[in-house]
Amino acid sequence: MNEATTAKVKELLATPKKIVVVGHKNPDGDAVGSCLALAHVLNSLEHEATVVMPNDFPDFLKWLPDCDSILIHDKAVEKSKKLISDADLIFTLDFNALDRTGEMEIPLKETTAKYVLIDHHQQPDDYAAAVYSDTAMSSTCEMVYHFLDAIGALHLITSEVATQLYTGIMTDTGSFRFPATSATTHRVIAHLIECGVKNTEIHQNIYDTNTPDRIALLGVALQNMKILPEYRTAYITISQKELDDHRFKKGDTEGFVNYALSVTGVVFAVIFIENRQEQIVKISFRSKGSFSVNEFARKYYSGGGHTNAAGGKSTKSLRATVTEFISILPSHKNELTDES
Ligand code: 5GP
Ligand code: MN
Repeated sequence: MNEATTAKVKELLATPKKIVVVGHKNPDGDAVGSCLALAHVLNSLEHEATVVMPNDFPDFLKWLPDCDSILIHDKAVEKSKKLISDADLIFTLDFNALDRTGEMEIPLKETTAKYVLIDHHQQPDDYAAAVYSDTAMSSTCEMVYHFLDAIGALHLITSEVATQLYTGIMTDTGSFRFPATSATTHRVIAHLIECGVKNTEIHQNIYDTNTPDRIALLGVALQNMKILPEYRTAYITISQKELDDHRFKKGDTEGFVNYALSVTGVVFAVIFIENRQEQIVKISFRSKGSFSVNEFARKYYSGGGHTNAAGGKSTKSLRATVTEFISILPSHKNELTDES
């Protein structure tokens, strides 16, 4: 975090503040971990910080320290609106535009609170008084660690905070293997382990919690996978009926798209998941190398993210969405097949 941002943040935090810490809709390990860790430390610094998430987070994160303290906006709309309108300061973590919070966007736009943005996604919007944006970072959790370092608060990292930060770094880096995992990331992780993280337990809590339904749904997803070698692309579809048949719970499809990306020769992987309630098809994009799924998701699917991991949505039917996707591929054939 640069000196100007550090000075600004120190000024904003100079006296006790009412603070709301917000993550993005459909919060993942990085969003939940970073918000909980930051709120915990802000509370140790005599501020009054509450984490508010737009909607619920997956069960595989429900063992995280303090996670019961999170207010879920769509389950407590009035309480959340009041916290937002009464706040002096709002930290937005792990997203780059207020519309990433779904319905919460409206109260967030109305409040007079000042914003601090901490995020590693590309092209952040301009709404914050202090912006700590770095697209080279492995995760927002790693950024929260550097943020705490910059404001002189590393000594406030308890084993709980360390556990929250470790979890987000681990999930956002695919267990320390994605390209943004740096030597510094590993140094941060080493310190977090010194602070009391039980790393083996965290891996088990996150990755060894498959239910028979989820494994069966993975089987369906793999059966549905189509490989298009001429575009070095693989995609998976899951219909609402397939989700219902396997008693889908939030988080059950997490990571499925990585199986498509793991196919030899594939550099572009996509999963299309029908969501009849929201009347959309939710899409996750992954790539290897220089093909930017952030740009692809922005251009065609009102989405965004990172160069190698992004998301978006379509309001067409599942079948029409896939047909359209296949029709788009030829215009990207050169980029997809130029990959070495
Ligand atoms: P996932 O595919 O795991 O949901 O998301 C991959 C990355 O893309 C994450 O960094 C996530 O924040 C971002 N992302 C997912 N969906 C959307 C979306 O609809 N809009 C934008 N701007 N980013 C998204
Ligand atoms: Mn993240």
